[in-house]
Amino acid sequence: MTSGMMAPLDRFRSWVKRRVKQWKVERIVEELKLSDVQLRKVMQLLDDEMNKGLCKGTNPNAAIKMFPTYVRSIPDGTEEGNYLALDLGGTNFRVLLIRLNGSEVSMRSKIFLVPNFIMTGTAEELFDHIAECISKFMHEEGIADQKLPLGFTFSFPCKQEGLARARLSQWTKGFKVSGVEGEDIVRLLHEAIERRDDIDVECVAVINDTVGAQISCAHEDRNCQIGLILGTGSNACYMEQLDKVETWDGDERAPRQVIINTEWGAFGDNGVLDFIRTQYDQELDAKFSVNPGKQLYEKMMSGMYLGELARLYLERLVNEGLLFEGQSSDLLSTPGRFYTKYISEIESDKRDDFKNTKSVLEYDLGIENYSNADCHYVQYVCSLVSSRAAHLASCGCAVLLNRVARPSVTIAVDGSLYRFHPKFGDIMEQKVSQLVNKGLKFKIMLSHDGSGKGAALVAAVACRIRDEQKRNGLI
Ligand code: ADP
Ligand code: MG
Repeated sequence: MTSGMMAPLDRFRSWVKRRVKQWKVERIVEELKLSDVQLRKVMQLLDDEMNKGLCKGTNPNAAIKMFPTYVRSIPDGTEEGNYLALDLGGTNFRVLLIRLNGSEVSMRSKIFLVPNFIMTGTAEELFDHIAECISKFMHEEGIADQKLPLGFTFSFPCKQEGLARARLSQWTKGFKVSGVEGEDIVRLLHEAIERRDDIDVECVAVINDTVGAQISCAHEDRNCQIGLILGTGSNACYMEQLDKVETWDGDERAPRQVIINTEWGAFGDNGVLDFIRTQYDQELDAKFSVNPGKQLYEKMMSGMYLGELARLYLERLVNEGLLFEGQSSDLLSTPGRFYTKYISEIESDKRDDFKNTKSVLEYDLGIENYSNADCHYVQYVCSLVSSRAAHLASCGCAVLLNRVARPSVTIAVDGSLYRFHPKFGDIMEQKVSQLVNKGLKFKIMLSHDGSGKGAALVAAVACRIRDEQKRNGLI
C-alpha cells in the first residue's frame, strides 16, 4: 500500500479512537446531568421535608430542622450606634466593628485564623481563642475600654431559644469541637470573656450567615425575603408566616412572621436524595468528610466539596486511561488537593483557549504531559460538577420562592463559590426561572458583608427593643 492510501485510513482510525474515548468519558460523567424531571422531584421532596421540619409532631425526626430564628422584622433604616460582630462559620473567623447611622454603614474588621487543633479541640480552647481575638481587636482599635453590644454570626445549625440563646445541634463544615453540641454558645462565649476579664462585651444576638445576608440586603431592598449561602457550606433562610410554624413558642404578637433558618444542607440525610447521588458522592461522604452520612445536599453543592468531587471524576478518567494517557500526578492523586477555586479558574477560560486550565494542570497539579483534548475533558468535568451544584441550589431557591409566594422577591446570596465562579449566577437565574411557579418574579442580589452588617443590624434592633422594654418597665 502506498502512504497516500494510509493517510485517510489513519485519520479514520484516530477519528474512531476519539469518538470511542468521548463515548467512554460520557458514560462515566453523564450521571452528573440532572433532567428537569429529576430537579422537579428534588423540589417536591425538599418541600415535603421542609413541611416536616415546621410541624411539631414530625420535627424531632425531620432531616431539615427549619429553625425559627427570633428575627421577625427587617431593619427599617433607623438603626444606629457602634456594634461588634463576630463571623464564625467555616473558612475565616472575623471580628468586626460596625458603625450604623441610618443608611450609612462603615466597618473595620480583622481576620483571625482558627488553627486546626482548635477546630477539633475543646469548647474552652475554642471560646478562649475567640475571646482573645475580640480582646486583641478591641485593643488595636483603641476601644477596649468601651462597653459594646455584639452580634454573633455563628453559621452552624442551632436551635434558638431566644435571640441571644442558641444551642448547637451539630457541627458541620470540618469543625468538631468537643463539649459544644447541645450547649448555648452565648453562655460559652460570655464565660470565656469573663475568664479574661479585660473587656466588657455582651452578645445580644446570635444569627446564622443566611440571616445576615438577608438582613443586610433587606436594609436596602425591602423585597429581600430569602438569604442564601454558597460558600464553605450551603444553607438558606426565608421569611415565613407564623401560622405555618408549629414549632414557634415565642411571642405571638405582630408581626406574625419569623425568619426560618432552614439548615437545608442536611436535606437527603434520610436517604431521599439517593436517587441522584453517585458513587463519587458516596465516596466523598465516606472517606473525605469528617461527618459521614450528614449534610448530603450540602456535599453536592458547596465550596468545601466541589473540588474534591471533580478530582474523584478526573482520577477515574485517568485510571481508565481516558485522561493524561493514564498518568496522574502525586498532587492530583491527593484527596482535597484539587481546590474548588480551580473549577472557577478552569471554567473562566474562553472557548478553546486553555490558558487557566493549562496553568492549573502544570503549576498547581504538576501534570506535565497533557493534550488539548485533556484540557477539554478537564473543563467538561468541572462544568458538569458546578452545573449540577447550581441546578440543585436552584431547586432550593424555587421551593422557597413558591413558599414566600410574593409577586416580586429578592434573594440575597453570599459565599465565595457563588461570588467567584464565573457562571454560577447565570445558570441559577435561568434554572430558577424554569422551575419556579408561573407569575413569581425574582431577583438574585450579591450580599456584601452580610455576616458583619447583618449581625450588627440585628444587634441594633435587639438593643432598641430592650431599651423600649426597660422604659416601659417590662424588664
Ligand atoms: P465561609 O462560607 O466559610 O464564610 P466563603 O464564603 O469564603 O467562606 O467560602 C469559602 C469556600 O469557597 C471554600 O470552600 C472555597 O473552596 C470556596 N472558594 C474560594 N474561592 C473560590 C473560587 N474562586 N471559586 C469557587 N469557590 C471558591
Ligand atoms: Mg461567610
